[in-house]
Amino acid sequence: MPGSTKVRELDAVVIGAGFSGLFMNHRLRDTLGLDVQVIEAGSDVGGTWYWNRYPGARCDSEAYMYCFGFDRDLMQQWEWSGKYPEQPEILRYLGHVADRFDLRRNTSFNTRVRSAHFHEESNRWDVETDAGERYRSRFVITAIGCLSTGQIPDFRGRDTFTGEAYHTGAWPHEGVDFAGKKVAVIGTGSSGVQSIPVIARQADHLTVFQRTPQYMIPARHGNVDKAVLDEIKKEYDTIYDKARHSTGGFPYDVQDRSAFDVEDAERRRILEEGWEMGGFKFMFSTFSDLRTSLTASELAGEFIRGKIRETVNDPELAQKLLPLDHPFGSKRILIDTDYFETYNRDNVELVDINAEPIVEITETGITAGDTHHDVDVIVYATGFDAMTGSFNRIDIRGLDGQRLKDKWAAGPRTYLGLTSAGFPNLFMITGPGSPSVLSNMPISIEQHVEMISGIVSHLDRNELELIEAEVRAEDAWVEHVNEVAEPTMFMHANSWYLGANIPGKPRVFMPYAGGVGAYRQHCDKVVANGYEGFTLSPGSVKA
Ligand code: FAD
Ligand code: NAP
Repeated sequence: MPGSTKVRELDAVVIGAGFSGLFMNHRLRDTLGLDVQVIEAGSDVGGTWYWNRYPGARCDSEAYMYCFGFDRDLMQQWEWSGKYPEQPEILRYLGHVADRFDLRRNTSFNTRVRSAHFHEESNRWDVETDAGERYRSRFVITAIGCLSTGQIPDFRGRDTFTGEAYHTGAWPHEGVDFAGKKVAVIGTGSSGVQSIPVIARQADHLTVFQRTPQYMIPARHGNVDKAVLDEIKKEYDTIYDKARHSTGGFPYDVQDRSAFDVEDAERRRILEEGWEMGGFKFMFSTFSDLRTSLTASELAGEFIRGKIRETVNDPELAQKLLPLDHPFGSKRILIDTDYFETYNRDNVELVDINAEPIVEITETGITAGDTHHDVDVIVYATGFDAMTGSFNRIDIRGLDGQRLKDKWAAGPRTYLGLTSAGFPNLFMITGPGSPSVLSNMPISIEQHVEMISGIVSHLDRNELELIEAEVRAEDAWVEHVNEVAEPTMFMHANSWYLGANIPGKPRVFMPYAGGVGAYRQHCDKVVANGYEGFTLSPGSVKA
């Protein structure tokens, strides 16, 4: 192993330097005055926005809410250019945050944490990296992201392809020149749907390999009028407060009417209004039961299918693009710009791989059904080993040498998505069992970071050494997470929320579907009740 083997003593190791790691570093280092080291696999800060540089990559949370809310000056001074800025602008924002708070100086870049083992004699975590760095730290905080381990399906012959091949989540920094090339995109989730219209405009020919047709809401992207943004900034306190106590982490007015409270014509009018607003407002500001009632969701689903039929000129092609096998809202909602319009182009072809399964990848392209598609470039928009994938890539061992991976073999088990019993002083930002990916994530990230900092300062103020989740509290939380997911649409599709995209992964609904407001209330109650569900101790937790 290259590098020094000297062990550095620390208060905290933070793994990852995206939104989560940046803010955690700032809170622990600058607010609490701890000795912190951040370790990041990429060569700079940014996380998601460092890795996902594919054409068309942009956020689908409205930008004025897709940012930090912890610093007033930062909020007032940063200017977003548009409703949903593109990846370079978001990366610039996170770089600006790193500069502003000097967050790179205690970060090791190009370095991956390989292992974190709890050492029971010292009550410390021993952390090792692939660069040979070794740390002994009181706390470890994983800020490793829910969507940071890409997955490329193991298609037969995948490695024989002699052209260019890229995964959307590990896009080359220098970009990819599609001009004059025949391109294949496999996957029509958020990443595929964002990149397909842009690649279609650049490439000579584009073949899209689709497994599941998807529901989409138009983004209605546009530049943001500075005057509008200035008005928002004046109201930021109220807006953030609303978002922090909402379901999805957005400050949207939520309707409490059911889709069945109104007549057909009125329902149509309301859905059209939501469609015109675009983005997540379609879900939150139309009817309250689109997420919970199969029949209500089906009304919205049929509305969207109508829009697809209207948009795609060729009826046979439109039919192939219709989502029919899962209800609206059961997979991550996709927000698109010109996705269905793209299929009206002469240089775009769709392969429905349910009818024509991918048989193999050859030196020159992809064979699906009986047809071989010659391509120069394959883009894998095939998603991520979400939520647990990045945990499983680290050898994490807690009390009695228990491996987190083994403990989670049948599905992740956490208390509040923040800690796991048997792993004292290990915290997870947006871990499984927290709202995370079902929310506008910066809102959830900030809440976790604040909670972790609160715990750390509580321990210090009370001369306590360790905190560990109680098994009973964890069991109850896992049960609660399942209970709130059960009546939602999420249980009606094969999605990555359930681990269904990874062969062999246990089918467990991983995020907390109760909403960020309800989740925050749980956490606040836990704190108000003296860290209910946790064991806090001055020394060995085994004593
Ligand atoms: P990440 O940004 O994923 O950062 C984690 C970091 O940890 C990475 O840089 C990774 O390199 C590092 N890391 C992981 N393991 C290790 C290790 N072992 N050692 C060292 N470093 C490690 N969310 C929204 O709310 N709205 C959106 O519009 C939105 N758009 C998205 C678009 C894309 C293309 C993707 C993929 C996700 C999007 N998300 C969105 C989710 C997004 O991941 C979060 O909003 C947010 O960026 C997560 O920040 P994070 O710091 O928690 O994790
Ligand atoms: P994804 O949603 O998991 O989509 C992956 C796509 O690849 C799906 O169409 C999937 O089909 C297909 N696929 C997977 N395995 C396959 C196989 N073996 N054969 C054929 N097709 C296969 O991944 P993603 O698009 O990268 O998005 C992941 C998440 O990241 C999103 O849900 C979202 O949370 C976030 N994201 C957000 C944005 C944004 O707009 N801001 C952009 C990108 C990503 P099936 O549907 O049949 O599984």
